[in-house]
Amino acid sequence: MTSLLQRLTSPRTNAIGVEIGTSTIKVVALRPGSPPVLQHAVMVPTPIGSMRDGLVIEPQAVANELKNLLAEHRITARHAVTAVPNQSAVTRNIMVPRMERKDLQEAIKWEAERYIPYPIDEVNLDFDLQDDPATIPEDGQMEAVIAAAPSEAVARQVEVLRLAGLEPTVVDLKSFATLRALRGNLLGEHLNKTTLSGLNYTEAGEVAMVLEIGASSSVISLVRGDRILMARNIAVAADDFTTALQKAFDLDFSAAEEVKLGYATASTPTEDEEDLLNFDRAREQYSPARVFEVIRPVLGDLITEIRRSLEFYRVQSGDVVIDRTFIAGGGAKLRGLAGAISNALGFRVEVGSPWLTVQTDQANVDTGYLQTNAAEFTVPLGLALRGVQRHG
Ligand code: ATP
Ligand code: MG
Repeated sequence: MTSLLQRLTSPRTNAIGVEIGTSTIKVVALRPGSPPVLQHAVMVPTPIGSMRDGLVIEPQAVANELKNLLAEHRITARHAVTAVPNQSAVTRNIMVPRMERKDLQEAIKWEAERYIPYPIDEVNLDFDLQDDPATIPEDGQMEAVIAAAPSEAVARQVEVLRLAGLEPTVVDLKSFATLRALRGNLLGEHLNKTTLSGLNYTEAGEVAMVLEIGASSSVISLVRGDRILMARNIAVAADDFTTALQKAFDLDFSAAEEVKLGYATASTPTEDEEDLLNFDRAREQYSPARVFEVIRPVLGDLITEIRRSLEFYRVQSGDVVIDRTFIAGGGAKLRGLAGAISNALGFRVEVGSPWLTVQTDQANVDTGYLQTNAAEFTVPLGLALRGVQRHG
């Protein structure tokens, strides 16, 4: 499936992936190949105060950082694929009567009006058919995934990229980018050059779940084969851990962020873990056990939201057995998070890596950096993959 939100021009080769995140601006450049070859994976902090609810409110400041980042790494591509913030995106699976492709646009718009919480004339709407009309009986129904975002949110993304000297070719959704980037994980033991060059996210019949946890938003997706079964926003994200610490210890945001990165774990720390962490004078104040108590309610909310999303799917579509689950996004790097979610839900959860989906040996980046920052680069890598795909 190659769903996308807006076809500004037809996809070209060599479009880079650009994610304007609340925490960092990230760029991934790939060269077409089988699988595509990583050239650059770079990021820079997003100027403080330049984003609100995932949307850029200071376009020039953000564009300047992006422009400098491209120049510093000599990234000369002019076309880019970007994504709207999750907060602005809506995805739904809907059923439509079987009809010719040319009649679909109007029918989907009509159907979508029931599911989209914005006036239909003020959204960018796109869809992807999950069924081939040729295989559906005359009076049957076809499943489509619709993706929508307020036109204003799409225009905001386009503006920032243009100010940075880039021409956006596709404005995608982060959920779709995440799935594309993690195909190397999702295919599991079926991963090889042939399966990777196909269109399936998982081997036919297998169901995978992916949770992308950004700084300000998260999104959970379920896939089977080449079908997206669900993509749903989750209101709990990595900044919520920081905010909880900020309140509890009366710190400013960046000091609380340091405490989180230094001392936070997603499970009750054992004495050994307490000892293993590299403590300094702050140890007494920010002992992992105290920090854990502070972030525990946020963790609880995150797990409740995951359960709700699974329940939502089960009510709509019936029971589902999940074969693999991955977490991604910078939030996935919270120490012990995969284990904590795994314990709460009763199945195995792993941290995904987008680097299985591409060749990294010719990258202008060292392997250690790629490993450390795999989680953050998931979305921009998925966007870059869209930029080197010929189909779609
Ligand atoms: P968004 O997409 O929500 O706008 P973003 O793309 O900028 O935000 P990411 O880069 O995916 O967000 O992730 C950044 C978040 O991950 C920050 O909240 C950061 O604190 C968190 N994070 C990064 N490393 C760690 C770590 N080691 N432990 C805990 N949290 C971490
Ligand atoms: Mg992000």
